[in-house]
Amino acid sequence: MSTVIFWFRSDLRLHGQPALAVALRSGATHLVPVVCHPPEAESTPWGFPRWGVHRRAFVTAAVQALADRLAALGTPLVQLQGSAAQVLPALARSVGATRVVCEDIAAPYEQDEIAALRAAGLQVRTVWHSSLIDPVALPWGTRNLPDVFTAFRNGLERKGVQPPLPLAEPPRLLPPPPGIDVLAASGLATAGVEPAAPRYAAGATDARSSFPYGLAAFNGSETAARAHLAQYLARKLPHSYKATRNGLTGIDYSSKFSPWLATGALSARQVMTELRAFEQAHGANDGSYWLWFELLWRDYFRFLHLQHGRTLYRARGLGTLPPPTHNPLGFARWCEGRTGEPLVDAAMRELATTGYLSNRLRQMVASYLIHDLQGDWRAGAAWFEAQLVDYDPYSNQGNWLYVAGRGTDPRGGRRFNPQKQAQEHDADGSYRHMWGTA
Ligand code: FAD
Repeated sequence: MSTVIFWFRSDLRLHGQPALAVALRSGATHLVPVVCHPPEAESTPWGFPRWGVHRRAFVTAAVQALADRLAALGTPLVQLQGSAAQVLPALARSVGATRVVCEDIAAPYEQDEIAALRAAGLQVRTVWHSSLIDPVALPWGTRNLPDVFTAFRNGLERKGVQPPLPLAEPPRLLPPPPGIDVLAASGLATAGVEPAAPRYAAGATDARSSFPYGLAAFNGSETAARAHLAQYLARKLPHSYKATRNGLTGIDYSSKFSPWLATGALSARQVMTELRAFEQAHGANDGSYWLWFELLWRDYFRFLHLQHGRTLYRARGLGTLPPPTHNPLGFARWCEGRTGEPLVDAAMRELATTGYLSNRLRQMVASYLIHDLQGDWRAGAAWFEAQLVDYDPYSNQGNWLYVAGRGTDPRGGRRFNPQKQAQEHDADGSYRHMWGTA
């Protein structure tokens, strides 16, 4: 009799779950699925909490929905409060497990978590599965990726590389160890361990939000994610995606897949499988192609992490520009939406109020912090990490590096002129008016 712990990380789902499939095939007779809720007090080096209210609430809802689905399969989800390094070794001792299976995440914080578990004596098997394309199918491997996205995309398309089909859901899970109340036995069942209801901020249902995650249709669950994908396709929105994707506000201008992709409630491979079926049924056009294009950006930033690892997190990034200087006053004004630049301030207020921001405005506010305020891009990336309901280490770091001109792309950064952006994307001022900065 042996027990394996399955640690859900950014893959809070049962469909398309290769890591869970590995755990189920591991030869163990018992499985203990677990989630670690990060400590409330965890702070960034920039003086604010690592988890803002929106991100925490969205992830908590995703975890609760997963717990309900697992309970229906007869397996309780163990929810522990604390860092994985603090809580998983104790859980392993209490259930008599030495093995942990989990998703492989190639970002430093997440790699350090794995190193700490190994240092505590656990055998950890990590399984890569968050990208569309399987890394083994990359024509260059992960060591010699093209420096420019276009070359990456062209290379894949020339070779016809496609994502693998997503795995079906397991019909059942292995039973937990008999007679063990895992929470009580772990000694970790203290206050705060029991699943708490998500604490939605008022902005979770704000009528101005482009992703009102406090409404049932946008909550963190796998069910809501799959229903959202189904209605997006049923309404044939992929066909108009390219024309609308630079919108600033509203539900339908872009797909809004990102929050569920980030928590893993939705698998990117599932999205692509359903998108291809949509194209078969209703025809492909430049809009449906562009969703694939953008999902390849998501992959590109993942694979850059496999190639460059921690180097992407240096102040200089991969570049040779001098390291940035932190500008605490400018940064505080930027976070609060009080820079005096109306479109930037409107966007930063939307971000803080709702936990979501369009791609166009993310680019613009990042550019403003880096190129106009001469601030440290890493502080901006950390602010996004705390605020965004769709925070994803790869896409966040990759995009910030790109705007800062410190990634692989040889062109020296992207400056977006806020006045020009306002003329192009908010000519009538309605967006600025909505957020009180017009
Ligand atoms: P859509 O426009 O509908 O795109 C479909 C999918 O393609 C998205 O869900 C996403 O998975 C992917 N995608 C689209 N654009 C990008 C991009 N530029 N880079 C990588 N993937 C992309 N995205 C995150 O998911 N998490 C982040 O933490 C994040 N941080 C960002 C930080 C900055 C400074 C910038 C400029 C962009 C960031 N993005 C991030 C990328 C992008 O803004 C969001 O993925 C997108 O706005 C999410 O909305 P959507 O799902 O409606 O996207």
